[in-house]
Amino acid sequence: MTTKKTVSFSKNSTNIFFHILTRCNLRCQHCYINPVQHGENTLPLSTIAAWLEAFAEKSDRANVIFLGGEPTLHPELSHAIKKARQLNYGSVTVDTNGYLFHDILSKVKPEEVDYFSFSLDGATREMNDKIRGEGSYDKCIAGIRESVSKGFATSLIYTVSKVNLHELEMMVPLVKELGISRFFIQVIGIRGKSADPSAPLQEACDKLQVSREEWLDIIPNVAEKVAEFGIIVTYPKVFLDPEEAFECAGLVADNYFIFPNGRVYRCPLCEDFPLHSLRFEDNQLVRTGKISESDLFELDIPEGCVMNKLIQPENLSYKNDGTAEYKVACCMLKEEILQN
Ligand code: SF4
Ligand code: SF4
Repeated sequence: MTTKKTVSFSKNSTNIFFHILTRCNLRCQHCYINPVQHGENTLPLSTIAAWLEAFAEKSDRANVIFLGGEPTLHPELSHAIKKARQLNYGSVTVDTNGYLFHDILSKVKPEEVDYFSFSLDGATREMNDKIRGEGSYDKCIAGIRESVSKGFATSLIYTVSKVNLHELEMMVPLVKELGISRFFIQVIGIRGKSADPSAPLQEACDKLQVSREEWLDIIPNVAEKVAEFGIIVTYPKVFLDPEEAFECAGLVADNYFIFPNGRVYRCPLCEDFPLHSLRFEDNQLVRTGKISESDLFELDIPEGCVMNKLIQPENLSYKNDGTAEYKVACCMLKEEILQN
């Protein structure tokens, strides 16, 4: 038996998504990193520490997720992790493509990192490597095995698009065999490379996003099968049921997406635009002027998320009289499935 719950937004839990560099060894076809908007620099450890301190002052037990680019390419990632621990962060996660540079698993202990989270976008080598690059499947699987064998809590992220949706079901036995403890199903966002119509992944199919019917048919089913192994499964809600209220995380949650050029966003869908509501200046967090993402959060539209309507309207649908058929949820609203 499994239980499904929608994880409500809360202002009491602060989540810091900290891109400490944008450099990466891979060139995934759906990469959301946009160097023009996010910078190309690698933050020195002193800046990482100062920015972690700024958020530790704002919130008692913030959670930090170290991201890139590929965060393990940062030679001082282990020191950044230890700094977050010293500052009493509630949890520390590292998202990685599996290459685990600088022997990171030997430089930190399982007590210091809550999760190493690996990205794999196909159950087969052929599919994953088509999206993420030659050799990345084997590297990621080897990285997961090493992480599990060293006693780290290990999770896996699978980003679903039209291209790899049919392999999601095949992930069920793989996820069990690998011994991971959390499985995140992500939905592809039309940003970064995915927003470029000339990108190879776009040319492979007319649109990348799965339809509402496909999403509702396949995702909850696969999630439930994985959860039956005792693995916690999380996936975005995406489509709200008619009785469910729409909420924008920009107004009712406390999430921060930090980039190495100092931009700090509250909404990931705004990251392709200079709409950040905060920025670091001399290591102090300051508000930006108008117009920023904050002005968009206030807009109340029948389709739900304003940014979704602006950048990925393909997932909306209208009745004959022109009214919206359903609302699209905030991209950060998640369903969580657990074994009872
Ligand atoms: S591993 Fe991540 S940062 Fe690197 S190319 Fe792929 S999606 Fe982009
Ligand atoms: S994704 Fe939409 S609903 Fe969520 S924070 Fe951004 S604008 Fe708000």
